[in-house]
Amino acid sequence: MKDFDNRISNSRISYMREQEEERLIKAVANQFGYNYVDLRGVTINPEALNIISVDVAHETEMLPFEMKRKNLSVAIHNPNNEKTQATIKELEEKGFLLNIFMTSASSLTHGFNRLEDIKSSKAVKHGLLDIDPENIERNMKRLRTVESVEKLILNIRTINSARRVSETLETIFAGAIGLGASDIHIEPEETGIRLRYRLDGVLQDVMDLENMIYKRLISRIKLLSGMILNKHNEAQDGRFSINVSEKEIEVRSSLIPGAIGESMVMRLLDPSVASFSMESLGLNDDMFKVMEQELARPNGMIITTGPTGSGKTTALYAFMRTTHKPGVKIITIEDPVEYKIENIVQTQVGVNYSFASGLRSILRQDPDIIMVGEIRDREVAETAVHAAQTGHLVFTTLHTNSAVGAFPRLLDLGVDPRVMGSSINIIIGQRLVRKLCENCKEEYQPSSEEKGLIETILKTHPNHPPITNDYKLYRPVGCKVCNDSGFRGRCGVFEAIKVDDAVEEVVIKDPREHVILEAAKSQAIPTMPEHGVERVMRGETSLSEVSRVVDLYSGRHMSKNNQGQAGDLDNPTSEKETLEPNSDDEFFKHIV
Ligand SMILES: [Zn+2]
Repeated sequence: MKDFDNRISNSRISYMREQEEERLIKAVANQFGYNYVDLRGVTINPEALNIISVDVAHETEMLPFEMKRKNLSVAIHNPNNEKTQATIKELEEKGFLLNIFMTSASSLTHGFNRLEDIKSSKAVKHGLLDIDPENIERNMKRLRTVESVEKLILNIRTINSARRVSETLETIFAGAIGLGASDIHIEPEETGIRLRYRLDGVLQDVMDLENMIYKRLISRIKLLSGMILNKHNEAQDGRFSINVSEKEIEVRSSLIPGAIGESMVMRLLDPSVASFSMESLGLNDDMFKVMEQELARPNGMIITTGPTGSGKTTALYAFMRTTHKPGVKIITIEDPVEYKIENIVQTQVGVNYSFASGLRSILRQDPDIIMVGEIRDREVAETAVHAAQTGHLVFTTLHTNSAVGAFPRLLDLGVDPRVMGSSINIIIGQRLVRKLCENCKEEYQPSSEEKGLIETILKTHPNHPPITNDYKLYRPVGCKVCNDSGFRGRCGVFEAIKVDDAVEEVVIKDPREHVILEAAKSQAIPTMPEHGVERVMRGETSLSEVSRVVDLYSGRHMSKNNQGQAGDLDNPTSEKETLEPNSDDEFFKHIV
């Protein structure tokens, strides 16, 4: 029997591949004179499962799986288990004719899951948990701190209890009720399974759960909530109730698929109780201050605009990093998830998880901040506006050429101009320009045309760099350092329009772009041409580079009041193209 112990009980077996395990069990069964069965390949008879209790099944490592009158087929894992032998004897004394099969640990686990499914389904039918309300009640009185919840769950981990999943779940509920939490969050992350409670409106870490217990907990909660067990790529919602202290506490559960695993949030309705930093984005000083204020606001929408590859998503990631603090839940819906940020629930659109449906599910996940990869249609626009109006900070992007261009786009998407003021905080426009290579850039005397254009643009810049009589500009040359391109790295050129009363008023009355720009003038935020030229004046990039991605011939500096001496560049009407993100770029290298 020592041989058996060595071969079966040795933990090394758990690392063996499934097929090898099955082969080994087959051989051992033969030695013992038993049959062999893989429970994954047979129909497990619920009637047979009912012969023994879940506890006994776990304790004895056995599972009855087929019954015809008194003929009972039983799968066992370890013939040396004394409890197994005792139960076999007991069943024989009850008059059962036993047909004993040996089965592998993984096969038995499959059987146990089926057993739990069936037992739990009955509980679901009755609308009650098959967990012990008395245990919850007993524990909720003594679980008064998050630490005590963790301690008890860790304690359950050490006891080899057949009710381990139930007891863990009971403790999670007992702790939540005892502490007066409004929500229970179970979130799989790369580093572990995070359990959090929302207490007094702020999320608080409880502990990391084991991966094994997480999967079973999710299955159990799915069953309890009436969700479909085998769907893993769809958002699901459900509800159930717990009866404790003569109260029926309703639990509304919400499940969303994630990059790592399913994320579960349970809201408790107790009837008696009511890396990419902002600094590295390269905002100009004025804009930086504006963004600091905007990111500190508790709700509303922050929209970044620009063509593909203009760094919109990167900016959103910087916003998330800035607002990401303990006690704040951020959920994203992206297409696809581009970068992983620790402690943020990131989800990805899929076949049954669109921006619109995903956003609705996310709203039920109790977030503080939501990042929506892109507003593409009316439904998403409406849901995002609704989210922003119901206490969430929403970060999103729109595919338009400028910040002001977002207004007609949103109107096209059916957003009521009268709700823009209450739902949209700020709209940002951005481009990426290449930075001149510091090793080879060359100073030169700008032409009168260039000077004319620069000075026209800077005239409307609310806080422009000094314009001296003999200022110089820089142009690219090319060297070894920059692979002869003359440029090295990229930086952002930004603009923004805050949706204040003045802007909201014109959006309702006369939403022409130049009218909106005029209304926003008092906000003292530079436009993209203004910020771009500021960068040119600082020698960070060249005028032709800015002109390549930003239309320098449109904007408020071209309005009648400011028009005058705008000169011609070589190719002012050339097609404005943008660069695709390049991992070598300095602009991106911090966030990976
Ligand atoms: Zn160079």
